[in-house]
Amino acid sequence: MILIKNKAELSKYLPRSQLAFVPTMGNLHEGHIALIKHAQKYNSPTICSIFVNKLQFGPNEDFDKYPRTLNQDIDLLEKNHCDFLFIPDEEHFKEIKLYRADSALSKILCGAIRPTHFDGVVSVLHWLVKLIRPTYLFMGQKDFQQIKIVERFMAMHFAQVQLIEVPTEREADGVAKSSRNNLLTATQRKLAPRLYQVLLNATSMIENKNIDEITKFVNDELNQAGFDVDYVEIKSRLNLLDPNPSMSDAILLCAARLGEVRLIDNIFIK
Ligand code: AMP
Repeated sequence: MILIKNKAELSKYLPRSQLAFVPTMGNLHEGHIALIKHAQKYNSPTICSIFVNKLQFGPNEDFDKYPRTLNQDIDLLEKNHCDFLFIPDEEHFKEIKLYRADSALSKILCGAIRPTHFDGVVSVLHWLVKLIRPTYLFMGQKDFQQIKIVERFMAMHFAQVQLIEVPTEREADGVAKSSRNNLLTATQRKLAPRLYQVLLNATSMIENKNIDEITKFVNDELNQAGFDVDYVEIKSRLNLLDPNPSMSDAILLCAARLGEVRLIDNIFIK
């Protein structure tokens, strides 16, 4: 794997062929590797980026404490045959122009609690995509709202890039893989699988319950299990508006906290 740290090295090493791009903030785990493996199916060299994006952290979110595990990340990427790793220095922050994420999509769900988060996401993505010029961009369905926002943003700014959604990679007990899982205490880790179990149970209610009944069920079950629920909502997976009456396009999205650790997950209902 070739390590690239700046623009000069990007133009020196990156081939002019098609490129499959996986942006990350590092502290890589099997969820990120699922994106790399998916990208490798596209018969193009794969480039991963690791950049802890200060702009997507809110004032009360701890940018300085975000885990940085570069050597471990490099080992994992090499083991999985990633071709290039772009690790721009933090000094690059000053080059990044600010863009706004779609206002309707970015102020609901996670955006209601993290109002500037998605502006930060799209600003850094714009900067990275402009430098790397990938053919394909891979993002995880775990962050479903992010995918919808990026989809709209890319259509406006980089319509030639194909955004590919990758299904959520889970632990054997159903917990979506995430760096945040390491922050759970042993007791909280035992509770964590309940989140996905409750979402799964909710999908079987679709034929005889309405949206309010299903979201109330999820809320109640999670509260009872010891979660503090931030939101439970059923939306259309096409545009995050209301789903159609048959719910054939519906996705159930949830954010809930165990202590200080905020977990998000989602499931397609049909
Ligand atoms: P992050 O480093 O948290 O910014 O995540 C980088 C990318 O990895 C995003 O597109 C995430 O959606 C994706 N990702 C993180 N966890 C998972 C997972 N468990 N399964 C699939 N994709 C994931």
